Amino acid sequence: MSNRSDRDRVRIRLDDLTHDQLDALYERLEDLEAETAKLIRWHREDGVALTKARRAVEHLTDRYRGAEAATARVRDLHRDAYADTPDAGASCTAGCGTWPCPTLTTLDGPHTN
Ligand SMILES: [Zn+2]
Repeated sequence: MSNRSDRDRVRIRLDDLTHDQLDALYERLEDLEAETAKLIRWHREDGVALTKARRAVEHLTDRYRGAEAATARVRDLHRDAYADTPDAGASCTAGCGTWPCPTLTTLDGPHTN
């Protein structure tokens, strides 16, 4: 960033402009146009990367919700068949024969990843 005194110092009256100075200005303009084009390209690439990241997050969120729903269905199927009775903990509603059954023990077991 240049401040006002920098601009005033280098500013040349149009009538006093030499060909070399004009060439330097055009060269600077071309540099700035190239820099602007590069920044626009980067911005577009960032936008593409952001879109891809959002899609990946949506995909993973869908998979997570699907896994959660599947786990809920398994838990709903495998419940204590005699909950709230004197025989509570005797058997699983899915007929696994024990409570907690191996399915729930596996679901509630330590995570390995
Ligand atoms: Zn079970």
